[in-house]
Order: sequence, then structure tokens, then C-alpha cells
Amino acid sequence: MDYDDLLDKAHKELPEDIGTGERFEIPTLEVFVEGNKTIIRNFSQILQKIRRTPEHILKYFSKEFAVPATPEGDRLILHRKLNRDLLNKKFTEYVKTYVICEQCGKPDTHIEDTGHRSKVLVCEACGARSAVK
Ligand SMILES: [Zn+2]
Repeated sequence: MDYDDLLDKAHKELPEDIGTGERFEIPTLEVFVEGNKTIIRNFSQILQKIRRTPEHILKYFSKEFAVPATPEGDRLILHRKLNRDLLNKKFTEYVKTYVICEQCGKPDTHIEDTGHRSKVLVCEACGARSAVK
């Protein structure tokens, strides 16, 4: 068994909801459409909450929606009309994958580049490490 198998095993044995104190609430994107653009009004606030760089989330959005994205002040502009619910759904997936610790459910994490094109999500609250794409 290698380290990843052990991690997988540990995850499977955890109950769904650990229920330790307050839970992190995934912030909601404030989205509006203007012409052919979709604008996320609270983008910089969101970044502060999830402590991720704009580059990382921009890359994710432009890949998921196949649309160029440009930050503009506190806002993010996506150069196509997009559905608000879909945007929030994808954003929730992003936060679950790249922000929230699978072990303890806390958002106090950062991403470490381990080389060989692999990255790990490191939890500052419980010390858990899990591989991310
Ligand atoms: Zn943790």
C-alpha cells in the first residue's frame, strides 16, 4: 500500500459529516449578464474568503466553460453569456476540490507544488495532504 492508498482508505472510513463546530459556508458568486459578458461582481471578496490566487480560479473557469476570463478591478469578466446557477455549481465544485480539506472540512488550506506536475492540497488545521490535479 502506498501513501495515496492510505489516504483513500482514511477518507472512506470518515463519516460524511464530522460535525465539529461551525462549518465553512461556500460563498455565492454575485453574477450578472451584460450583453455577451457574464460578470462576477464579488470576485475579489470571494478570493479573500477562499484564499486562492485569481490565476488559479481563472484557469479553472476558462477550462470549465471554454471561455476567456479577465479580472477587472474587483470583478471577473467571462466573455460569454453563462448561466448563474451553473457558474455557482462549478464554483462550488472548485471550492470542494481545491479549498476545503477532505479530512476536517475546514477551508484553511493551501496548494503546494510538489514537482513532477503534481500538486497537493495541504490543510493548515489538521495537517492532511491530498493530491489535486
Ligand atoms: Zn484538515
